[in-house]
Amino acid sequence: TRRWYFVNRPKHQIEPDTLELRTETLPELAEGELLLRTLYLSLDATLRLWLSEWDLYIDPVKLGDPMKGFVVAEVVQSRNPAFPVGSLAAGLGLWSEYIVTDGSGYSPMPRLPGLPIGDAFGTLAIAGPTAYVGLHEIGRIKPGDTVLVTAAAGAVGVITGQLAKIHDCRVIGVAGGADKCRWLKEEVGYDEVIDYKRGNLVEQIQAVAPDGIDVLFENVGGEILDAGLTCMKNFGTVVICGLISSYNDGAERTPGPYMFRNVIMRRLRIEGFVILDYVDRYPEYQQKLAGWMLEGKLKSRLHIVDGLENAQEALKLLYTSGNTGKLMVRVGSE
Ligand code: NDP
Repeated sequence: TRRWYFVNRPKHQIEPDTLELRTETLPELAEGELLLRTLYLSLDATLRLWLSEWDLYIDPVKLGDPMKGFVVAEVVQSRNPAFPVGSLAAGLGLWSEYIVTDGSGYSPMPRLPGLPIGDAFGTLAIAGPTAYVGLHEIGRIKPGDTVLVTAAAGAVGVITGQLAKIHDCRVIGVAGGADKCRWLKEEVGYDEVIDYKRGNLVEQIQAVAPDGIDVLFENVGGEILDAGLTCMKNFGTVVICGLISSYNDGAERTPGPYMFRNVIMRRLRIEGFVILDYVDRYPEYQQKLAGWMLEGKLKSRLHIVDGLENAQEALKLLYTSGNTGKLMVRVGSE
């Protein structure tokens, strides 16, 4: 099988020699094991952090180890009754065409009639539950709230906007570039979309939300978080889902947002979360999300790159505004 290994720690952006693609032979299956054929890799912003020396919420990838990531795979051989041949398994796996595993870290993934595997995995594995938990458990949104979502055209942002609309909120997105902004408004259903690459962000937010923001769903950090904090209503909520603008930072310390003082001035509640803490409740979230998908209320938008060999280059798209929607690598056909 072909498999990516982590061989050089990048200082900033991922380099061509950060990971190395090797070919190796798979072992025979022992009792309790299964052979998986990878269909898709989920490329998530957090993967850059797993290659860093930050103090994280999870064990990082160690130098010299195979690259980890969330995957969906088909069971092609099995000596484990929980994973019959032909069924699907999703979970924390390796960037590899095939893998022999005892199944730990994977869960069976049902095939949903009417939903292609890519759409189901792309929305139900990470982005959908993250958007749901961020809006409901952390943000505690109410109908009529004005919700501001940053990185709105990314995997999490596209779902967050649609879920906020399903919950009768007014939803404003922040994204980079006219094409993404137009698409978010016309196709995804955002009420207003702001291009952060065009002009003063605070003024643009104030123009569409003169009364302020009830819930800020933050995916970016840096100056974009600063603008969001500036525009919060009294007693508003700031959901820290991600801070992608800092993930390529090296050892240097970057100053925090200037308008952090609004946590006091506007009496804000600010809370971060990690979706992995909510896996026990996945069935509940996934049932709701899949239901909305089948009703046509929640649409997935995939950004697919073909070929395991292109995975390292594809990952960089997340940090260079190169993706629209959920970035995945198709490793094998469905
Ligand atoms: P996305 O698909 O949202 O891709 C990243 C997007 O972020 C880019 O397309 C780009 O959009 C924007 N972006 C990147 N760098 C910058 C920058 N410097 N300034 C402004 N915008 C930038 O990725 P994900 O859906 O995987 O992740 C989105 C966020 O959600 C991340 O912060 C991630 O860490 C977080 N996350 C958190 C989880 C949790 O459990 N808390 C779970 C999953 C994700 P544009 O074109 O608009 O610039």
